Amino acid sequence: MRRIAVEEAFITAEILAGWRQVLASSDVEPGFAKLGGSLLKPSKGTDIFLARLMDIGAGRIAHMDNVGMDVEVLSLTSPGVQIFAADMATRLAAESNDALAAAIKANPTRLAGLAAVAPQDPQAAAREIERGKSLGLSGVIINSHTRSEYLDLPKYRPILEAAEALDMPIYLHPREPGPSMVTPYLDYGLYFATWGFSAETGLHAMRLIMSGAFDRHPKLRIVLGHMGEGIPYWLKRIDNRYALQVKIGATEKLPKRPSEYFLENFYITTAGVTDMAVLKLGLDELGDDRIMFAADYPYEDDAEAVQFMDGADVSEEQRRKIYETNALRIFKLQV
Ligand code: MN
Repeated sequence: MRRIAVEEAFITAEILAGWRQVLASSDVEPGFAKLGGSLLKPSKGTDIFLARLMDIGAGRIAHMDNVGMDVEVLSLTSPGVQIFAADMATRLAAESNDALAAAIKANPTRLAGLAAVAPQDPQAAAREIERGKSLGLSGVIINSHTRSEYLDLPKYRPILEAAEALDMPIYLHPREPGPSMVTPYLDYGLYFATWGFSAETGLHAMRLIMSGAFDRHPKLRIVLGHMGEGIPYWLKRIDNRYALQVKIGATEKLPKRPSEYFLENFYITTAGVTDMAVLKLGLDELGDDRIMFAADYPYEDDAEAVQFMDGADVSEEQRRKIYETNALRIFKLQV
């Protein structure tokens, strides 16, 4: 079986330069100022890391060979273009998608990718989803909030409509919480992947569910990394307390229970999680057709992710589904 990893990051030199401009300006979101602070200080460690992030050619393939990774599904790293003004964000997303499509064309059996979009201009983002599909990209990457706004807002419907109509899953990837909620996360590094990333992205997914987005877009498919950003753990309690809130008139009743939307419209990936108890929970809650392998390179140790999945206490059929066949089906990969 092939090992296919579906949350693997890259960045373009232009977007990195744009990040540095934003970080050096007075108009920088507080969470991103913390996240990106190290990019303004020269450091050998940062340089090595950025070189890994920028390489989606021979160096990336050689690294994949070293760790035994057969296919990487690449996506523009968080927060991507979502911190830029709308015009610049739209242009840089398109350029990044062109670069990604070229990298895939050069290594079609090893690389696939997701299209970046700029939610700042929802109509342009919808068009970019269509263009991304025509470029051979397999889904959409959205790095959670855009200026503290979430995709359930009516202004973002063109994005959900396009993703649904073109059958392009949206990978809802974490980023640091937005200005409207970040204050208590700024201490102790909590804005970061230790806690804030999942709090932010789990909230985004819950807003989509509770807003009725999946009644308006029943075929919309969302992918969450990091074993579902905590939601599988809370699923029964979410249903239970939702039912109480409906009963006392505090929450509008949806046609289905929250967990039904989660189990019908969502997939999760193992990105950044090498914990058998958590994988078991995911399998118990979602079943083995909705979990995909991901490493989160270069942020995480992908050799460790491979070692975990190779040795995970699951059946060989489940290992094949998680490593390979679920990703092939869900993203319709042509690798
Ligand atoms: Mn990631």
